[in-house]
Amino acid sequence: MYLHGNSRVDHNGHLEIGGCSTVQLAEQYGTPLYIYDEVLIESKCREFHEALKETGLKYQVAYASKAFLCIEQARLIEREGLCLDVVSSGELYTALQAGFPPEKIHFHGNNKSIEEIEEALDAKIGCFVVDNFFELEVLQAIAEDRGVYVSILLRVTPGVEAHTHEYVMTGQEDSKFGFDITSGQANEAVAISLDSPNLKLLGIHSHIGSQIFEPDGFVHAIKILMNFLNALKNELDYTAEILNVGGGFGIRYTSEDEPLSIVKHIDQITSIIKQQCEELSYPVPELWLEPGRSIVGEAGTTLYTIGATKNLPSVRKYVSVDGGMTDNIRPALYGSKYEAMLANRANDENKEVVSIAGKCCESGDMLIWDCELPVVESNDLLAVSCTGAYGYSMANNYNRIRRPAVVFVKDGVSRVVVQRETYKDLIKNDMIYIENSSIR
Ligand SMILES: *Cc1c(COP(=O)(O)O)cnc(C)c1O
Repeated sequence: MYLHGNSRVDHNGHLEIGGCSTVQLAEQYGTPLYIYDEVLIESKCREFHEALKETGLKYQVAYASKAFLCIEQARLIEREGLCLDVVSSGELYTALQAGFPPEKIHFHGNNKSIEEIEEALDAKIGCFVVDNFFELEVLQAIAEDRGVYVSILLRVTPGVEAHTHEYVMTGQEDSKFGFDITSGQANEAVAISLDSPNLKLLGIHSHIGSQIFEPDGFVHAIKILMNFLNALKNELDYTAEILNVGGGFGIRYTSEDEPLSIVKHIDQITSIIKQQCEELSYPVPELWLEPGRSIVGEAGTTLYTIGATKNLPSVRKYVSVDGGMTDNIRPALYGSKYEAMLANRANDENKEVVSIAGKCCESGDMLIWDCELPVVESNDLLAVSCTGAYGYSMANNYNRIRRPAVVFVKDGVSRVVVQRETYKDLIKNDMIYIENSSIR
């Protein structure tokens, strides 16, 4: 397992993260446990700032909160001077409860409810990233009703889709998100926005995919976006202040992954923007980015206790842990790959290839197929690295399994930022009706 950030093996042969022994963390907080290297999250935020400052462009970085959000995470993001993307009133509520400055919150999503729009307007958030014609109409109507002016970006689909090292051109973009450029819908949306007296169009937004390793997809998308903006300038006399190119910067889950560094991504993105603006004589817009995974992914490690093993000679050895698809659904959902190590015997030599199973009643509840480990025993601690993004945020209560606690570690100090759910939490919304009596 690759040791990210402030992880190392201590003199006892135990995995240590942020100066804290994972063996002690397991004793203190139990397992499964999400452990975040707080300093690594901070340094990722700083990497974005530093790389962008170098470019001389005006910029904003918004953390995509869907990757991982809780009150302390929102506070960390605020301290690091990032903005925040939310896609639901639940994420908005969490951010507001954390005291996150509302003007630095951007609201995304392809089906914001009227209630959500109202709540976001009540909170006076910074801007809406408008996704479709229905939302444009509703937002204008509500804003007019309230007598307020609302800043918006329009999410457009440039017909470029990127995943890991490949990107594809998808002629007529078949996506539930955004206004399509090719068919002219994006153009129409801009015209409507400019005609909507209560909407202030700051610019356009595009998000082309996730876990992107190479900048070609961004480069291609930006060329299309800049040509689109230039056409708007000529046809509608509209000049965008902001170009938001989304997130999706890849991280290293396993040794197969070789992501480009944040600095290099930003270099490529900003050079193509500058070059296009020069060619088109277009004023350089402010650049907005929206990283999620690349801020928190590598900082998270999940710690499990090993229980049962099942050996099928010459077929496979299954090693079961006390969590699974309830705390990390990505392997089951996307076939995502992870690496693991024994946290309590980190120096032991790998001796066999086993498969790590979760405890849920689903054959698909497998965390890792073919993982090299020492010969494991029950009660060994298994650490799975790189679980910081879309782990806790996608956690669920299948089989009525309680969601694990989340702990931040830094300089040898650990603190719980989300408590482990209790059994009471599991039934807190259940109504109990008892024959011949009122509700208990
Ligand atoms: C999910 C998402 C992001 C963040 O993606 P990552 O792969 O986590 O960086 C950014 N912008 C939008 C619109 C998204 O939907």
